[in-house]
Amino acid sequence: MTRKDQSKSKSKNKKKYKNLSCPSCKSENIIKRGFRKTENRGKIQRYSCKNCGFRFVKDEGFLRMRNSSQRITLCLDLFFRGISTRKIQEHLQAFYSKNASWVSIYSWVIKYPK
Ligand SMILES: [Zn+2]
Repeated sequence: MTRKDQSKSKSKNKKKYKNLSCPSCKSENIIKRGFRKTENRGKIQRYSCKNCGFRFVKDEGFLRMRNSSQRITLCLDLFFRGISTRKIQEHLQAFYSKNASWVSIYSWVIKYPK
């Protein structure tokens, strides 16, 4: 995840970012739009949709969890099988210890619907 300071240049980058589409209009016409600084997680890359102007942050939950997209996928899978977020949390704590609160699990479910 080491990305050097590409963000400073005003590159008119038409490249499509991997797996990235506008949460609002589903367009893949996405540009980087600087960083958001947070105390807990450092810099977060922000993106903007050139289609509708929607600004968003990529995969906030994934960043928070660090390399744990598999865990999130697992949680979502469990959730959609009808297991409650609290049960999923218990599962997580059993295997990974103190990682996610059920609140964040629930927010993933909202954020990454099937
Ligand atoms: Zn959009």
